[in-house]
Amino acid sequence: MRKTLMAAALTTGLSTGTAAVADTPVGLVIHGGAGTIERANLSPEQEQAYHDGLRLALEQGYAILQAGGSSLDAAIKAVTILEDNPLFNAGKGAVYTWDEQHELDASIMDGATLNAGAVAGVRTIKNPILLAHKVMTESVHVMLSGVGAEQFAVEKGLEQVDNSYFNTEFRYEALKRMKAAEGALPHQAGLVRDPNWQMGTVGAVAIDSNGNLAAATSTGGMTGKRYGRIGDSPIIGAGNYADNSSCAVSATGHGEYFIRYQVASDICARVKYQGVSAKAAADAVIKDVLLPVGGTGGVIVVDANGELSWSFNTPGMYRGKIGSNQPALTAIFADD
Ligand code: ASP
Repeated sequence: MRKTLMAAALTTGLSTGTAAVADTPVGLVIHGGAGTIERANLSPEQEQAYHDGLRLALEQGYAILQAGGSSLDAAIKAVTILEDNPLFNAGKGAVYTWDEQHELDASIMDGATLNAGAVAGVRTIKNPILLAHKVMTESVHVMLSGVGAEQFAVEKGLEQVDNSYFNTEFRYEALKRMKAAEGALPHQAGLVRDPNWQMGTVGAVAIDSNGNLAAATSTGGMTGKRYGRIGDSPIIGAGNYADNSSCAVSATGHGEYFIRYQVASDICARVKYQGVSAKAAADAVIKDVLLPVGGTGGVIVVDANGELSWSFNTPGMYRGKIGSNQPALTAIFADD
């Protein structure tokens, strides 16, 4: 059992700021990817580093909510911090493509307006979530890809980096292991599934003091992806969705399943049309729909009542939450 409670320090420290309207619950849930994350594979130091990374993102995102800021700004802040942390598969630390490059996907959605922005296959943008936000707020489009997305980023003055900025040794080792496993049949690249080395994504969902929901998701995708493969993370309704009338969802997992089963919008539709709780809807989709067909992964969810929850069908998911009426919590394994 490994939980990090930081209620005292965090809530005490932040409660002296400009408080959100007292009876309006604000809250933030984050994830850093789901997969075959087992205690035996993480040293205590590694475990602590993940908790610390999650905690920093929670603290900084929640400070925005407590100061009366928007759910969009809180989600962007949390995701940006996770993108900058090499432990997580987004931004710095993104996985490698088959061609030993990094191609990043991200999306954001505003539950108040249903405005959304997404980018796919970008190679030189330090924080893809910031570019997705620019697409939402400063373009007439929802999704931009590849060189066009990068051209737009340059016009908007976003920070660019060389593709090698995203390099990390442990992700490169993962690619090499994958290539060794698939070496005999290179045309089947991507068919051998080992969530241990292939998966990860970061995301945040939030509710602010105006009751507005937001969702943000960013990823390097899956190790060894090729042919310009795009996953669920930048696809509105698959890996990311927010609607004030139901809920906000950010997903992580085997993207092909999340696209085909429209996971994020299915969860919100169940909340909206069946009147079930966000947690019940998430469990139904992740455990009853995806698991039987082999779709592994998980989601974080916040609903219009401020209920903060998650669901996953993998041994672990890096995750954390904090709300007006609940202490901050970070967790990794299923039994945390
Ligand atoms: N969903 C991401 C993708 O398929 C990967 C992940 O979340 O692990 O690109």
